[in-house]
Order: sequence, then structure tokens, then C-alpha cells
Amino acid sequence: MPELPEVETVRRGLAPSMEGQVIARADVNRADLRWPFPENMADRLTGAKVTALRRRSKYILADLSTGETLIIHLGMSGRMTVSGDPLGQFHHDHPAPAKHDHVVFHMDNGARVTFNDARRFGAMDLANTAMLDEHWLIESIGPEPLGNDFNESYLCVALSKRNMPIKTALLDQHVVAGLGNIYVCEVLFRAHINPTRKAKDLSKKRIASLVPIIRDVLSEAIAAGGSSLKDYRQADGELGYFQHGFQAYDRENDPCQTPDCGGTIARITQSGRSTFYCPKCQR
Ligand SMILES: [Zn+2]
Repeated sequence: MPELPEVETVRRGLAPSMEGQVIARADVNRADLRWPFPENMADRLTGAKVTALRRRSKYILADLSTGETLIIHLGMSGRMTVSGDPLGQFHHDHPAPAKHDHVVFHMDNGARVTFNDARRFGAMDLANTAMLDEHWLIESIGPEPLGNDFNESYLCVALSKRNMPIKTALLDQHVVAGLGNIYVCEVLFRAHINPTRKAKDLSKKRIASLVPIIRDVLSEAIAAGGSSLKDYRQADGELGYFQHGFQAYDRENDPCQTPDCGGTIARITQSGRSTFYCPKCQR
């Protein structure tokens, strides 16, 4: 499942083909993904210029010259592919239409952006740009982890009320936007915090230590995604899925990489999700 760094990588990969460009035609090949598409979506997109391509949490936001914003969520398995890009960054021809190509944007610069989603947990909606913060998918999302509103004092207050494991609290999108299972495991590993500890019981010092670690873990992953963009372009034009080494996630029974720890990474289940951590150095 794509997390914030993967979504940001997709956004950066799409920007050269979409930003400042007009959607000459949109093919909407079914009525819904996770939820129904907005009424007349194809008509509302056709002829619109993408004035900006932004990201909020795990949503890609395409601001349109029509005063609407296209909200895109990749869900579990959503994939975006760019082909026929005249800028030469994606040097492959348009592929034949594939199964699960649900929405295709034909840009007037010749680029084609395809949204493929086999499991259909993805979503698209159109909203008035001026009212976007009140959209039901967006309104209750917490601060962006890389933005200024996410800081030590904010996080101390937000976690002081949460009588739940710190792992669960950091996955709560009201607390911080866009953090998912993989990166929360990495963050807690680096912070040496046991994922089962109650959020409200952690000292302010330990909570404060999470802020720069969250920023670092996400920034490193975004950098890895950015440097991998070249590879997609040479491969099949698909964006946003990249290999990235994790120290805790998916490393059950591996030796802990914390210097001089000597522990072994364990896997437990919390709220139905796998947690990977070192019981020895995460306290
Ligand atoms: Zn350890």
C-alpha cells in the first residue's frame, strides 16, 4: 500500500506531464472505484488546465482552471503510469489499454496519464478548490508531518489525550497526516520506543524526539523515491513504487541493527496490523 513518500513520488513524477497542461480528454471507464465517481467527471475534466499538482496526506490534488480540484487517492493497489511524454522523460510509447485502466487523462501536450487499480480501493472526487479543506476526505486530517504545524508542542498535546499504544496513535490520521504502518515501525525503531507503550504515558522528551525522526524517515524515503524516478521512466512509466531499505519493517528474526544491541526483530499484531520492533532496545 502506498504511503506518503510513495504518493509524493507519484506527484513529483506526474508534475512534468500535468502541471500547466490542459486535459484534452478524460476517459472514465467505469462508474466508481471505492466510491462512485462525481457526476459528469469526464466532462468536468475535459478542457481544464491543471494549474497546480499538490499533495495533502496521501491525496494527490490537481487544482484545475475551472475552480475545482481533482482529488486522487491510490488506495491499496492504485498505479499511475505516464506514457508518450513529449518532454522525453518517459521514452516509451502509449501502451495498449490494459485491464483495470479505469481513468485515462489525455494531456494536450501528448502525455497520457493512466490510473490502473485492480482492487479498486482507490478514489477520485472533484471539489470546489476554495472549499477543499472542508471536503469530507480532507477535513479531519491532522497536520502534514513535513509542515510547520507539526512540531514538538503540537505532538505532546495530541498524544497526551490518547490512551492507546503509541503505534496506534501515530497511525491515527487525526494526529498526523499520511503516516502508515511501514514508516511508523521505522520511526519507533529509531526512537527506541516500544510500540506497545501507551501514548499518553510517554514523557514529553520522548514524544518530542519523534518529530525530527518522523521528518527524517519520510524525507529519506522521498529522496529515495525521487532518485528512483529515472528508473521508472526507463522501465514502464509507472510511478511511485520503489525499493527502500527498512531497519525494522518486514525483518522478523533479523538481528537488530542498533549498534551494540544484539537483539532480534520481533513481529506482533496491533490493531490487526503487523508491528516489527526490537524488544531489547525499544523500551
Ligand atoms: Zn535492538
